Amino acid sequence: MKKGIYIVATPIGNLGDITPRAIEVLEAADIIACEDTRVTKKLFSLLNINIKKTFISMHDHNESEQLEKIIDFVKEGKSVAQVSDAGCPLISDPGYKLIRRCKEEGIYYCTIPGPCALICALQLSGLPTNSFMFAGFIPNKDKARADLFGKLKEIDTTLVFYETANRIIKTLEAAQKIFPQREMAVAREITKVYEECLNGSADELLKHFRTTEPKGEMVLMIAPPQEEEKNISDEDIETFLRAEMQTLSLKSAVKKIAEQYNRSKNEVYELALKIKDE
Ligand code: SAM
Repeated sequence: MKKGIYIVATPIGNLGDITPRAIEVLEAADIIACEDTRVTKKLFSLLNINIKKTFISMHDHNESEQLEKIIDFVKEGKSVAQVSDAGCPLISDPGYKLIRRCKEEGIYYCTIPGPCALICALQLSGLPTNSFMFAGFIPNKDKARADLFGKLKEIDTTLVFYETANRIIKTLEAAQKIFPQREMAVAREITKVYEECLNGSADELLKHFRTTEPKGEMVLMIAPPQEEEKNISDEDIETFLRAEMQTLSLKSAVKKIAEQYNRSKNEVYELALKIKDE
């Protein structure tokens, strides 16, 4: 086997998704760079791959130090297979710094492709796939999450995020405010027994997850804006503003509608004053 780095994808649930090429490389590699050595050794034993080789742990917190060791191994003539706990290495997982170093050092590297959660989720979603933006994990802090959604709202493409079961309700609550009209999809447990993909508005998905406890690994997708959202009429703005003014202060209703429909605050404020004076 040629010395260098082999980026090897592993299953995201169904063991049968390992490719023959991945098995060949994992068998032949001298060194396995993985996130959690226990997880990867378990995978090897399930796949009947020889475990008697060097396993090095490389995760988000030690990637910079560990990659130097890995580069040294390759310089000594060794072959290194890089895997993550599941799915495609480097995709919301460690590894890109290692590949940058390979480029700098002129070290051979290649990809051994396989399952990737974001691609499988898009396939299951029924949302447009001709163009999409993968935005990784959604921040856990309320402001950071709202800021991210606010920025992405303008982008005319399907949005894809990695998410976890214990955060999905908070995330959908934030998405409900910023993308109230958009179709969304939550794909969970992909390639596993309970694989499913639920589509609906944030409101509908929230209703579901408030009555059915969210479980398993998840990918959240948000459809691109429809024409109506892009060209919402002044009459509709007035209707939405009236509705918000029933429950929110004038200032909060103006802020919400202006942000949600990309209108100037002054314009919406004038309208709110008119409604208030009626
Ligand atoms: N690098 C991996 C990939 O792209 O396939 C993803 C690693 S990332 C640390 C883990 C996230 O991927 C999970 O929180 C979830 O959002 C998503 N994921 C992984 N496996 C999944 C599955 N079987 N079903 C749904 N989502 C999954």
